[in-house]
Amino acid sequence: MAAMAARASQLITLGAVLVLALALAEVDRCSGAQDYDFFFLVLQWPGSYCDTRQSCCYPRSGKPAADFGIHGLWPNRDDGSYPQNCNPDREFDSSKVSDLLGSLRAQWPTLACPANDGLRFWAHEWEKHGTCAEDVFNEHGYFQAALRLRAQLRVLGALRDAGVHPDGGYYSLAQVKDAIQRGTGFEPFVDCNRDESGNSQLYQLYFCVDAAGSRFIDCPVSPGGRPCGARIEFPAF
Ligand code: AMP
Ligand code: AMP
Repeated sequence: MAAMAARASQLITLGAVLVLALALAEVDRCSGAQDYDFFFLVLQWPGSYCDTRQSCCYPRSGKPAADFGIHGLWPNRDDGSYPQNCNPDREFDSSKVSDLLGSLRAQWPTLACPANDGLRFWAHEWEKHGTCAEDVFNEHGYFQAALRLRAQLRVLGALRDAGVHPDGGYYSLAQVKDAIQRGTGFEPFVDCNRDESGNSQLYQLYFCVDAAGSRFIDCPVSPGGRPCGARIEFPAF
């Protein structure tokens, strides 16, 4: 009899632990617990998006400035993996960023064809990457943080100060990295693509940001990406 009572109490305890574990897992899921260690802020040279075989279309608001634009702010893990498309219930809502639209047009320009107003690109970035950082950012905060971080860097100024200009000339990878390190304090990963003639060119720069999305850090891991040639073209835009 005592053994049966002990067994019953064991089963009840086990059941309670199971219920608690399930409840905790649910809380974790609903609170969007952080599933990443840092962010990549990815900047893009528009000249290198447009002079490729696929070409580009200027947004409806007109040709963007000849400056680095934002591609995205991507949550990443120290092991090189990354979460994506984390919350299908949080579709992009442009009314939540109405005060930022002017800045987004200028600093996060779409170059996809056919020409459009950029909403599709921003929606893609928010839904694929932004929804994975809902523990720190709502939609407005996500776009505001990317804009603020980009503004802090002044990458083009750093390159210009070191004599690296978007004039179709060629530079070494070390020249590009050193110039940016000296001007911004942070060394980016450089992602190259190829122009229509097959020349390796400066396409995207990856910087790392802490998990709070507030300050730049040295990168814990390389994003991989396409390697650059020995000579990197910096095309005009
Ligand atoms: P992700 O998957 O988040 O970066 O986004 C990749 C998609 O964004 C690809 O379809 C790219 O062609 C597209 N993309 C990259 N840069 C731009 C840009 N400046 N404007 C519009 N689409 C872009
Ligand atoms: P790519 O292979 O550079 O053309 O990247 C294609 C798309 O994959 C990007 O536009 C991103 O959306 C996604 N992607 C590639 N690497 C990462 C990463 N480290 N973190 C988040 N997304 C990534």
